Amino acid sequence: MKIIFIGPPGSGKGTQAKRLASHFAIPHISTGDMLREAVSEGTELGRQAAPIMASGALVSDDLMIGIINDRLAKGDAAKGFILDGFPRTLVQAEKLDGLVGNGKEALRVLQLLVPDDAIVRRITMRRTCAQCGAIYHLENNPPANDSVCDRCGAEVIARADDTEEAVRRRLEAFHRQTLPVATYYRSKSVLREVDGIGPVDEVFERIEQSLTS
Ligand code: AMP
Repeated sequence: MKIIFIGPPGSGKGTQAKRLASHFAIPHISTGDMLREAVSEGTELGRQAAPIMASGALVSDDLMIGIINDRLAKGDAAKGFILDGFPRTLVQAEKLDGLVGNGKEALRVLQLLVPDDAIVRRITMRRTCAQCGAIYHLENNPPANDSVCDRCGAEVIARADDTEEAVRRRLEAFHRQTLPVATYYRSKSVLREVDGIGPVDEVFERIEQSLTS
């Protein structure tokens, strides 16, 4: 199972990708999580990426391709993986073909559809665990105990790029740079579109159906 999730920021792809990864017992590879980890660890990569991420723009293709190349070479990715947040540009998609192929057997690409007007509201209500990355929504799925993560007990915070201004920039980057990636996979008949509106469980059911149909 090699699955790619495509969707605008706040479409629920992180939540759904995590769930699907535990369902299939394959690694969830989120380039956003990897970058945030580098930022919190203060590595050279983190220092380069932090201001770009905070502004809502995309980190360079070269840097991202290097990161994903290293990650996919690890043993746990051999039996499959879920990519969340990569590829985000056509250049990245073409490079990924070289690594995993793009035939129907090689890859399934899920595009989560959520209209822009729903995104800004979702994202400004989103909170993320600083430690384990668990995702909450202040109205629909708040942590049981104020700002404490249900899963690991660490602090639940707003991501630095979950401000309204950065969200608009991220949406703009999605439309301009990532939607062509969906078109690319559609032309190769590996793209499946899934309605991302509704409760998490319902969206997950739609994803499962689209993978088995
Ligand atoms: P995400 O958690 O997927 O929303 O990613 C957060 C931020 O990390 C993005 O807004 C980008 O700045 C950066 N990022 C994550 N993945 C990529 C990628 N594949 N290409 C370029 N930038 C990325």
